Amino acid sequence: MSVSSAELAGLRREFTGLAGEAFDAMFAPDQQEQLITMTQREDRVLQKGAELQSWLLARHLARDPWAQPKPSEVVPCPKCGREGVPDKSDTTPVPRRVTTRAGPHELRRRKYRCGKCRAVFFPRGREAGSRP
Ligand SMILES: [Zn+2]
Repeated sequence: MSVSSAELAGLRREFTGLAGEAFDAMFAPDQQEQLITMTQREDRVLQKGAELQSWLLARHLARDPWAQPKPSEVVPCPKCGREGVPDKSDTTPVPRRVTTRAGPHELRRRKYRCGKCRAVFFPRGREAGSRP
């Protein structure tokens, strides 16, 4: 993942703002009447925690290095293992809905082609490696 220090600072600011809102949702005096029972407290803390988790995962997935792999990256065909070639007809990463333990999210990946299999595929990420 390549994130500039300015972008990282912006993400941190946004996240700490959301974390502050979660803190206020638990501790602000005007919220206390809604946080009497254990169930109310549990519901609130789980809701705020899920919001923070979802935000973190969405922002991390948005910067997925396999959305636009570097030219030096080797992306093997999942069928034959031969090195795939980036699809030049469609250079925009294709969005896919993925179900995660933190809820549904979007993952974008660049399209590749295998000349041997005549197949179109998307990099899996962890199986791909860098050229020596
Ligand atoms: Zn292949």
